[in-house]
Amino acid sequence: MFDLVVVGGGPGGYIAAVRAAQLGMKVACIDAWKNAKGKPSLGGTCLNVGCIPSKALLESSENYERAVHKFADHGIKVGAVTIDMATMQKRKDKIVDQLTGGVAYLFKKNKITSIHGLGRFVGREGEAIVLEAVDGESVTRVEGRQVIIATGSVPRAIPAAPVDQINILDNAGALALAEVPKRLGVIGSGVIGLEMGSVWGRLGAEVTLLEAMDGFLLAADEQVAKEAHKIFTKEQGMRLELGAKVTGVKQGKKGLTVSYEQGGKTSTLEVDKLIVAVGRVPFTDGLQLDRIGLAVDSRGYVPVDDHCRTTVPGVWALGDVVRGPMLAHKAEEEGVAVAEQIAGQKTHIDFNTIPWVIYTAPEIAWVGQNEQQLKAAGVDYRAGSFPFAANGRAKGLGETAGFVKMLADRKTDRILGVHIIGPFASELISEAVVAMEFGASSEDIARIVHAHPSLGEVFHEAALAVDGRALNM
Ligand code: FAD
Ligand code: NAD
Repeated sequence: MFDLVVVGGGPGGYIAAVRAAQLGMKVACIDAWKNAKGKPSLGGTCLNVGCIPSKALLESSENYERAVHKFADHGIKVGAVTIDMATMQKRKDKIVDQLTGGVAYLFKKNKITSIHGLGRFVGREGEAIVLEAVDGESVTRVEGRQVIIATGSVPRAIPAAPVDQINILDNAGALALAEVPKRLGVIGSGVIGLEMGSVWGRLGAEVTLLEAMDGFLLAADEQVAKEAHKIFTKEQGMRLELGAKVTGVKQGKKGLTVSYEQGGKTSTLEVDKLIVAVGRVPFTDGLQLDRIGLAVDSRGYVPVDDHCRTTVPGVWALGDVVRGPMLAHKAEEEGVAVAEQIAGQKTHIDFNTIPWVIYTAPEIAWVGQNEQQLKAAGVDYRAGSFPFAANGRAKGLGETAGFVKMLADRKTDRILGVHIIGPFASELISEAVVAMEFGASSEDIARIVHAHPSLGEVFHEAALAVDGRALNM
């Protein structure tokens, strides 16, 4: 019998398995993922069709865009720049193979038994929770003292636009296109819509985002969302239709006709490919949760407490399949926390300091509360902003759009939130997370030396600006 059986080998599950093995447990991980070649591939959504391949294509497309539009500014002439889509996709696939192979290596190194197949609960026998891993005809019985459900999520489907992965695509299809579509439609202007829209838009597609809500990037700070809207639409040429409810898609000889209702009017959009990116839903199909007395909630999540405990002793759940943000680093932190709790340690995850990043150009990142949330909660705060345009490093990079905004409690000066739109926001946000984890004040940051010239100085100046004493503006 295993001390721990993890169902799901994505960032939540595989990290839990590794940490449990480090803590001396005998661990098995059952994972069902097969890649496009039909081979088992660990790492879940994140490594196979999510975070990693999307960032690889974002980088490639940004390099193309730099070569076409930005090198000339530096006095670099490159002649005709062309796209070799096959090589770009091969590079992405290689990165995915290396990293998914890396998880298999980690399992070997930590003596974790890796079982390919769809895991399902059979029931409890004495102190053992019994599962089966089903791979075609083969059924493997697996027993564990403890079980972690880390089965992740899948794209939310909408009846108006059924995904066929040929013309109507979800994230997997959107990452695998063999050529750049001339006209690309995206349903949903959330994180995937913006990242995928950026990739194909930079490579030459005319991108139209159809968003059901009347507002743009509602989870972000309003000032950041406004700046992003301006840059993506006016400067980068993405078309964004807000309040657009897609009612159907017709496939014709010359492409797809997407019908949508907007402000009481019916409109149509002609595209060659359509990406559906309207959120993700937790995945528990085939798990047979009822065999151990568990049921999902009304939205399909496995219910857990603050410590990822289900109502069934010995059964835990984490990552995208439970409440909270659907982010890889959130799943990983929960994975570590659950493994450590099983080993008898005490852990705590502060959801308020989980960073969010959107890998557009410029990048968007935030942690903590935004201005509209603070206003709604009646918190008295001070805000300090500083633009990248006034920073020497940003000028040298030629990436001067955006700003850093810091929000701090007016009385205690404790940092309550940091909101960034600008170059390397994904890296800069880490300093804000550290500051908030350590309960720093804006004054603490204002008095810390930041290297010159660096983008970190923008964060420093934003902290100074909270007290109205930014130095370079
Ligand atoms: P998953 O990664 O979904 O893994 C679950 C695994 O369990 C899968 O391998 C699945 O096959 C397996 N499984 C399911 N059911 C069973 C079963 N019954 N038996 C055995 N195995 C099973 N997050 C970020 O933080 N940063 C990003 O930049 C980012 N980019 C993204 C880009 C895209 C296009 C997408 C789609 C997502 C992105 N995410 C990003 C979100 C991130 O991928 C998820 O939050 C993360 O993968 C969740 O991890 P998980 O372990 O909970 O689940
Ligand atoms: P999302 O929740 O970010 O955005 C979905 C968007 O679709 C929203 O703006 C929503 O209002 C809109 N929408 C919903 N139904 C619609 C409809 N019928 N018609 C038109 N618009 C509709 O979801 P996503 O972009 O699909 O991404 C899924 C999850 O994956 C995210 O929650 C995120 O946590 C994760 N993810 C993270 C990253 C990252 O961290 N950089 C990148 C990609 C995905």
